[in-house]
Amino acid sequence: MAALSIRALSKRYANLEVLKDIALDIESGEFTVLVGPSGCGKSTLLNIVAGLDRPSAGTIEIGGRVVNDVPPKDRDIAMVFQSYALYPSMTVRQNITFGMECRHVPKAEQDAAVANVAKLLQIETLLGRKPSQLSGGQRQRVAMGRALVRDPLLFLFDEPLSNLDAKLRVEMRMEIKRLHQRIGATIVYVTHDQIEAMTMATRIAVMHQGCVQQFADPDTVYRYPANLFVARFMGSPP
Ligand code: ADP
Ligand code: MG
Repeated sequence: MAALSIRALSKRYANLEVLKDIALDIESGEFTVLVGPSGCGKSTLLNIVAGLDRPSAGTIEIGGRVVNDVPPKDRDIAMVFQSYALYPSMTVRQNITFGMECRHVPKAEQDAAVANVAKLLQIETLLGRKPSQLSGGQRQRVAMGRALVRDPLLFLFDEPLSNLDAKLRVEMRMEIKRLHQRIGATIVYVTHDQIEAMTMATRIAVMHQGCVQQFADPDTVYRYPANLFVARFMGSPP
């Protein structure tokens, strides 16, 4: 069974067609990267999967269940944004436990979950700090910690490394990749960066003007691009 199935999905804003008849089947445990130039519809697609935006047509299935009418909090997903979206007045620990607090998870269980993700993400020493006392990379680790404690069926990442400097970006790519391998998560990861797509993905969906141009493993996309756009965008050899 696919972890995520997108079928015949379209989205229009007034007379602007942003997504055109998208179909994608993503298997459990896959690291799928949606890559394409700015404005091609990546965030819109991710937001529709998350339930933050509604499709004009088509269906979204998560874990075999059609979720078109399911609110975001009940979709069994966790999302990580470029802007971190941490609560500034809360400590790192409180940011991570906020969701569990709301669901009245017992304190001991919360502590165990925080200890676990803090170790995975190497943020054990930061738990008492406020977001303003963290570097960009540390903030993004905390945002990932908050997603990880939810243990969702599906992780959605929207350009999580775009605000980081080049060196840290490379380190974090490897870290997210290792994390994926260790916990066996299903991840849909949006980026405009071809190198990020090539180094992180098990499969890449290359998008252009609201359409998926090719959906295949990195090696195939690079060596056998489906069309001229994909070849140029991925920098394939002529
Ligand atoms: P990407 O994430 O690939 O950069 P987006 O999904 O953010 O692209 O945007 C795709 C297109 O949809 C762009 O042309 C953008 O201007 C347009 N768009 C996004 N959100 C809205 C909105 N709320 N109203 C109108 N147009 C929008
Ligand atoms: Mg975007």
